[in-house]
Amino acid sequence: MSLNILYAANPSEWDVYSASLSFLLKQAGLSACISREFAPDEVDYIVYAPGSELQDFTPYTRCKAVMSLWAGVERITGNKTLTQPLTRMVDSGLEEGMCEWVAGHVLRYHLGMDRHILGQNGDWCQQPPPLARNRRVGILGLGALGQAVAGTLAALKFDTAGWSRSEKDIAGISCYGGDTGLRAVLARSEILVLLLPDTPETTNLLNTDTLALMPRGAMIVNPGRGPLIDDEALLAALDSGQISHATLDVFRVEPLPAGHPYWAHANVTVTPHIASDTRADTASQVVVENIRRCEAGEELMFLVDREAGY
Ligand code: NAP
Repeated sequence: MSLNILYAANPSEWDVYSASLSFLLKQAGLSACISREFAPDEVDYIVYAPGSELQDFTPYTRCKAVMSLWAGVERITGNKTLTQPLTRMVDSGLEEGMCEWVAGHVLRYHLGMDRHILGQNGDWCQQPPPLARNRRVGILGLGALGQAVAGTLAALKFDTAGWSRSEKDIAGISCYGGDTGLRAVLARSEILVLLLPDTPETTNLLNTDTLALMPRGAMIVNPGRGPLIDDEALLAALDSGQISHATLDVFRVEPLPAGHPYWAHANVTVTPHIASDTRADTASQVVVENIRRCEAGEELMFLVDREAGY
């Protein structure tokens, strides 16, 4: 019997996803029809993204899995009508993009690019940066993206540490867990990268108290989620010099509202949630492999832990 796959994600990407999914499903020997419209009780799988019009999953009685194209699922996990298994996106394209984006912004800070790329009236102030191996970088979150980024920074020879809920053992990275571990990573991080999910436990993780633990003048790169940071506390830390600069890709409200203090702050760089995008070519492979697994009675990859919220 042919499978019905409902595409309930960004309409502007329908053409590219329908083409790549159709191709890969055929290659996997799966007979399937992909559409943006089916009778709900005839749908076998849902390819999903936040912002979709589909909010009530109750009528999708035959659906075996909802597959998010996004890595962050905080906008989906709270949906009480979604009782089907939910998977999130772990994708090599997403990882590569995040590694490149974070490496670029960490290198900007490390090399002092803002100071040293001089304009016509530039100040000839020679202050060579240390080598990366003498620069301590911390990553909060050592999941799919955090580990990939840690590997990239370690390959550039940064002195890299990371923190996660369950303590890890990763070659070349100093790994920490728990509250004491968090304090240790913060205390050593001249540059801190946030790659945690948005859950009740991570909300305002960077606040007045935790920012005070960091070395004076530390820099922050946040491609994780806006609510990880207490905005008022960060602005105060930036004004006092405790934090010298922050590069923020994600915010509590997106797009970041006009008039938000981050826009005008001299020591904040705002980017429009572009750190890394899900790539249709690689993401479609993940979706199709999960459908293949489910049809074969195998376990789904990247299942969301509803209780933990990620
Ligand atoms: P992931 O694989 O689920 O990893 C999450 C990491 O955070 C894990 O290491 C997890 O610990 C840790 N963690 C979760 N709750 C914690 C807590 N309370 N205390 C300590 N550590 C905790 O997620 P991912 O794929 O790496 O993605 C991370 C986040 O990046 C996403 O949730 C999303 O918000 C963001 N993102 C942003 C963009 C962008 O363009 N800006 C793009 C993609 C993703 P364990 O390892 O112990 O589970």
